[in-house]
Amino acid sequence: MDNDKEESLESRVVQACHYIDELTGGVSPPLQFSTTYARDSEYEYLSKFSYSRSGNPSWELLEQVCAELDGGAEARCFASGMAAVCAFFETVNSGEHVVAPRIMYHGSQDWLRRISEKRSIELTLFDASDIENLRRSVEPGKTTVVWIESPVNPTWEVIDIAAAAAIAHDAGAILAVDGTVASPVTTRALEHGADIVFHSATKYFNGHSDVMAGILVTAEMNARWDEIKLVRTLTGGVLGPFEAWLLLRSMRTLFLRFDRASESALRLAQHFEGDSRLERVLYPGLESHPGHEIAKRQMTRGFGGVLSLLVKGGAEAAKRIAGNTRLFVPATSLGGVESLIEHRASVEGPHSAVPQNLLRLSIGIENCQDLINDIEQSLEAL
Ligand SMILES: *Cc1c(COP(=O)(O)O)cnc(C)c1O
Repeated sequence: MDNDKEESLESRVVQACHYIDELTGGVSPPLQFSTTYARDSEYEYLSKFSYSRSGNPSWELLEQVCAELDGGAEARCFASGMAAVCAFFETVNSGEHVVAPRIMYHGSQDWLRRISEKRSIELTLFDASDIENLRRSVEPGKTTVVWIESPVNPTWEVIDIAAAAAIAHDAGAILAVDGTVASPVTTRALEHGADIVFHSATKYFNGHSDVMAGILVTAEMNARWDEIKLVRTLTGGVLGPFEAWLLLRSMRTLFLRFDRASESALRLAQHFEGDSRLERVLYPGLESHPGHEIAKRQMTRGFGGVLSLLVKGGAEAAKRIAGNTRLFVPATSLGGVESLIEHRASVEGPHSAVPQNLLRLSIGIENCQDLINDIEQSLEAL
């Protein structure tokens, strides 16, 4: 069908870009588990596939849907978010300079610290509360990659992606955006000038806390993208066929789940803002949030399903509140249908700059009043 572009993205994702199996009419794709693909009597491959590490049919529709979701030229899936992050940073050479936020997803920062030591890549971490800090951190002619998240996990500063792209491009660097938290439902980073966008598909894309996957989407075909594809084949961080199938199945409800989580997160944030038992509620959807104006421009369909509570009483109180919940599951991760609560500093390790009294909440799709009641009773129990 080719009246495609008139349709909303939402409808296209629900129907996996109008997928119908050519052989059977099935509305869900078949699963191909084969790792190797036969040749014919002329010794030519029967299809474009030869060996599953370099390419297999289970990735194709998933990657097509992901490319459309972010409005990119092409997408590639990986065995986990970190496999995608690592494949991306394999394209950075010794002597180059990378800039990233001081508070960001700790796994990506740990990897950056490691390659900066092992491969003589220079790393500058900037305070994301002010875009001018990014401007001061780039070095024209030397910086090759600016890597950002927006909102920044788990304090939710909102980085202006268009401004960051302009700064990166002026310095001769590319802008890569970790879009996991906003998801393309509310922020399509490539439209704001990013060159490449990354998602931990383990989070909102899959949404059911049962598949690990990572996605990279490129704005344009270029040498770096070719290298990323080669790196995936050579390092083998590939997504299994069943995981690819499950992920695509889950993505059909991405908009529905994300909208619901966003609505509930806003209600929860508004309910607890100003609560005397808390120091602060951090959520970009609150008017009091320093990044609210940028968020209103950049997050076009809700402010997302994650927020943080800064509690009174430090790490001990925070951990007790997390431990006392009945509905919220005290566990790491985000973007699933079940609500999670986590003391972030405990999981991030020695480099963490996250406040000790911070609890991160990932809002799922449960009844919102039940979620509010649960936090109420947990604060009460303290
Ligand atoms: C989870 C996460 C990652 C890492 O993805 P995995 O799928 O766990 O490997 C990267 N960035 C952000 C913001 C995340 O939340």
